[in-house]
Amino acid sequence: MTSIDTERFRDELLEERRRVEHALATLRDEHPGSLDEEVEEIAATSDNHLAETATATLGREIDYTLGDNAEQVLFGIDAALKRIDEGTYGTCTSCACEIPRERLEAAPWASLCIDCKRRAEG
Ligand SMILES: [Zn+2]
Repeated sequence: MTSIDTERFRDELLEERRRVEHALATLRDEHPGSLDEEVEEIAATSDNHLAETATATLGREIDYTLGDNAEQVLFGIDAALKRIDEGTYGTCTSCACEIPRERLEAAPWASLCIDCKRRAEG
């Protein structure tokens, strides 16, 4: 039997899922169209505001990074919720050892123990 309080982690995962989905939806709403179009638009409408163009570019890059990560996190959250249903939550999907509690607290969607994660990232 596992000592992990899966119901608590399920709540956290569901809440994180809502948060990430909201962030993704916000990204899509705020940034329709391509980056190039937006930068050209700003450059064309503000004569000497090069800094503004730089800021828009930087902001977009960060947003895209967040978007990519968010989709990975969503995928991981769904997989973790499935493991809770299957009763395998908190167990490393690679070596079947128990994932340390602290790791789950920091990343409830973690599917690998730290050793396996390091190996996977190799
Ligand atoms: Zn492992």
